[in-house]
Amino acid sequence: MEKLFDLDGQVAIVTGASSGLGAHFAETLAKAGAKVAIGARRVDRLAALAEQIADSDGRALPIELDVTDAGSVAEAIRIAEEELGPISVLVNNAGIPSAGRAIEMPEDEWDRVLDTNLKGAWLMAREVGRHMVEHETAGRIVNISSIIGVGTAAKRVLAYSVSKAGLVSLTKTMALELAGNGICVNAIAPGYIETELNSDFLQSPAGQRIATRVPIGRFGETGDLDGVLLLLAGPAARYITGSVFTVDGGLSLSTL
Ligand code: NDP
Repeated sequence: MEKLFDLDGQVAIVTGASSGLGAHFAETLAKAGAKVAIGARRVDRLAALAEQIADSDGRALPIELDVTDAGSVAEAIRIAEEELGPISVLVNNAGIPSAGRAIEMPEDEWDRVLDTNLKGAWLMAREVGRHMVEHETAGRIVNISSIIGVGTAAKRVLAYSVSKAGLVSLTKTMALELAGNGICVNAIAPGYIETELNSDFLQSPAGQRIATRVPIGRFGETGDLDGVLLLLAGPAARYITGSVFTVDGGLSLSTL
């Protein structure tokens, strides 16, 4: 039987791999057999993750990367391909939050969040997409959006929500443009997934009130995204493109 979720022989690049979901995605892809370039600005954390992956017989290459800088993006991709081979999987995960009411948000916060979460993802997809087309790679691009970018809204996160909704549009447009090249572009829209960044809040009384609204009865764990990640990163996605997969324990269905 065809190995639908096997990434043996694939080369992946994960942005924002120095913590949280990105670090976990890198480990998951490596366990599935991919060689993984791990990019972020905190290179010390990337080095530690690469060692951890090597301890489990995986291969990870730490690369300094600032997704807001087109030069850094091109250089990171050049290094990844020189060391590991042509990239076949891009996970656009780097992202930063925003806070405060729209009418009080400083202009530079809008720019910072949109530059990182949306323009950064496009810069990565543009460069990796060009290489995939050039090498005739049946590539996979997986963008990490959020339920806040897909049909739901929340107060005090305007720039973040707009960036995540923009990622959905980027996913669909690039899916159309690249389908003829055999490249599938999809997005994951997670709900609340507990990471070191949000764990204090999610465990607080305010966080626990949100947890009671999750139909499955708990916040997500990083491993809850593994199934959809491996689906979209590998051979199983060959007829899936332009889709957005919500993984939120049913939260966005809840009207309570
Ligand atoms: P973290 O803060 O743990 O991770 C964010 C990552 O992005 C870090 O590794 C950071 O690395 C990287 N990053 C930020 N700016 C840049 C930049 N300019 N260039 C390169 N890398 C950058 O958060 P999470 O793991 O929780 O979130 C990961 C993604 O998942 C984000 O896009 C987030 O919006 C999305 N998401 C998360 C949810 C959750 O509940 N956790 C829910 C829905 C979506 P460094 O600072 O070293 O550069």
